[in-house]
Amino acid sequence: MSSAGGDSQSDPRAELRDIVAGTREWLVELAEEGLDDLKIPVIEPAMAKPAAPSPPEPAEPKAPVHREAPARADLSLLRDGPDWGPSPTLDTVRETLGDCTRCELCARRQTIVFGSGNPDADLMFVGEGPGEQEDKQGLPFVGRAGELLTQMIEKGIEIPRPDVYICNIVKCRPPGNRNPKPDEVAACRPFLDGQIAAVKPKVIVTLGKPAASLLLGRDVPITRVRGTWHEYQGIPLMPTLHPAFILRQYTPENRRLVWEDLKAAVARMRELGGRA
Ligand code: SF4
Repeated sequence: MSSAGGDSQSDPRAELRDIVAGTREWLVELAEEGLDDLKIPVIEPAMAKPAAPSPPEPAEPKAPVHREAPARADLSLLRDGPDWGPSPTLDTVRETLGDCTRCELCARRQTIVFGSGNPDADLMFVGEGPGEQEDKQGLPFVGRAGELLTQMIEKGIEIPRPDVYICNIVKCRPPGNRNPKPDEVAACRPFLDGQIAAVKPKVIVTLGKPAASLLLGRDVPITRVRGTWHEYQGIPLMPTLHPAFILRQYTPENRRLVWEDLKAAVARMRELGGRA
């Protein structure tokens, strides 16, 4: 639980704060895995009064349903994809994808949602898969979660959305917004790798647990890995919460966490000579 264990042993209030913080982290994890009915209490950072009830949540419109369960990063299912070479272009990757029927998600899609943004972006966002609006429009993150992501990018870190690159693990909408299956993820992953090889971002930000789990190669608890640095193919990777989750749990604390993650991502990108 908390690293402040020594203090907790001598301070019952600190111990209670640790217990509350740990319980909240676990609830966030469950909620992001699809248990939408959970009400997670807001614990403000100061937590000066551990026994006091959390302030009531402001009434927020219900967000679109997110995936019901996280994808498991099953490396044994990963297939060899095309050899992109050192410098593919996004056009090459898209042409190779073609009118793809490599997995069963092709059956009910309206459009392939390949990705959008600057082909030379220094900051790349990777989500899980298209939703209903994305499937209709052929663009990633254009529903309510997408609007929030756009705000996070344009108002939060003050970068025009067209200057970053945004895509998903799978390019076709899973029916009913279910989670993509491991074999679907495996079929589509080579094209995500192609996009990363083409864009060559300075920093990757994964949105939500499934994207983080896939790129980190293991099932990760998003509340523990968010805000910490990792690497994917030598590129610094910052996991953060999915905007659909933020819509569901629209708390000052969750917004602060994402804000901190994005600020860290931009700072790292600039350290590495990135523009924007
Ligand atoms: S999800 Fe990916 S691999 Fe599956 S059909 Fe769509 S583009 Fe092809």
